[in-house]
Amino acid sequence: MDKAVLVYGIGISGCGAAEILARGGKSVLLYNDAEHEVNADLKELLAKTGGQIVIGGGEKLLDEVEEVILSPGISLENPLVQEALRRGINVTGEAELAYRNYNGHIIGITGTNGKTTTTTLVGEMLATLPCVSKVGGNIGMALTKEVETMPDNSWLAAELSSFQLETIQNFRAEIAVILNLTEDHLTRHHTMEAYGAAKCNIFKNQRPEDVTLLNFDDPIVKSWGGLVPGRLCWFSRREILPQGIYMDNGDFVIAWEDTKEVICNKKDLQIFGGHNEENVLAAIGAAFFAGVKPCDIAAVLKAFKGVEHRIEYTATVNGVPYYNDSKATNTDSTIKALEAFANGHLILIAGGTDKLTPLEEMMALVKTKVDTLILLGEAAERFNEAAVKAGVADIRRVKSMREAVEMAHKIAVKPQTVLLSPACASFDMFSGFPARGRCFKEIVAEIAAAEEQK
Ligand code: ADP
Repeated sequence: MDKAVLVYGIGISGCGAAEILARGGKSVLLYNDAEHEVNADLKELLAKTGGQIVIGGGEKLLDEVEEVILSPGISLENPLVQEALRRGINVTGEAELAYRNYNGHIIGITGTNGKTTTTTLVGEMLATLPCVSKVGGNIGMALTKEVETMPDNSWLAAELSSFQLETIQNFRAEIAVILNLTEDHLTRHHTMEAYGAAKCNIFKNQRPEDVTLLNFDDPIVKSWGGLVPGRLCWFSRREILPQGIYMDNGDFVIAWEDTKEVICNKKDLQIFGGHNEENVLAAIGAAFFAGVKPCDIAAVLKAFKGVEHRIEYTATVNGVPYYNDSKATNTDSTIKALEAFANGHLILIAGGTDKLTPLEEMMALVKTKVDTLILLGEAAERFNEAAVKAGVADIRRVKSMREAVEMAHKIAVKPQTVLLSPACASFDMFSGFPARGRCFKEIVAEIAAAEEQK
């Protein structure tokens, strides 16, 4: 009898993988270290092919296993995974599994920040093609489930984290995008080299005709130009390139072989900030190589309002606009948000679960852009020290998001702007960044409603 496949992790991608494997007739051990709820339909499906849910258990389990599929949350350093590798059992991830089951075209998008924004944009551009297209990966449904119903001539825009890329084997994206690389996830990858190497996996299986789009303005990403096995297309918002996707006087330009085309101007966009210009350049490039017409690319860009929790306009109270950037879970994305507000005068709400990355660069910018820094969460103490050291004059400490927003409201006057951009994960106080962002928005809405009553 065939051995089972062990799917490690009962989350979106683990459950997706288990379901697809079981439907394909495989016996699946859906494994988790701790108790986790699984829906009854999936349990029933697993049982049909001799599979089951397994919570905890030792290496003995591996006697029955021919392959291990890791969820992105499971490290290759995990002892059970290490034992599987020692035994020569194939260990891979859900992205690879999706690839095995899909014959269509893939655009893979990675980077420390900007993946969701760029993938969403690319997805909307692909939707203008006369074929099936979808987005998947870190966004929404598990890739395996996403590709299940997709025909061979379809396009998939896959948002891929370093954790997903770490375990790919044959996964090939015809078009690969790397947006940037800054410090994040070092608790898992340990070094920037290892983190970068995982990102570079996105192009490792490319053929000569495939395309990789790399950010010319990011020094680390730039250094990978020589490693690309397919065609290399740079994008830059700072330099006019002989060939590539770039900006000229605010115009987004495609210059590639016989094509020279202005798509639109940054003034036509509803999203703002230099980081978003980079996301737009990357999305333009990916869509162009997928065959999307420039006029359709332009129409999508002009209509795009951004993704929730990414410098999302929330409301204006007493002439002061409030923005929710709860997705800023690392210092680089907060730096980008601060830079995006050219006029400064920010009241910044930051803090949460500390990722222990250096704070000097961010706090130097806080000093120039932020009138009042409001700190909350586990990171508050370390952030406070770094802010004091950088010479930030007005620092307040609060215990909850409500206190933070109410304090911001009390202080704020025109032409200030209130920005939640925590530079931290959210798990000290929330179930994730969406819950944190929603909490912020609800409190802002309450305050706005109360002000209107006055
Ligand atoms: P990801 O999916 O990679 O986390 P998102 O598009 O969700 O990326 O954005 C995450 C955070 O990073 C948000 O706070 C956003 O404003 C910021 N951000 C978006 N694009 C970039 C970029 N290109 N460089 C740096 N920060 C960015």
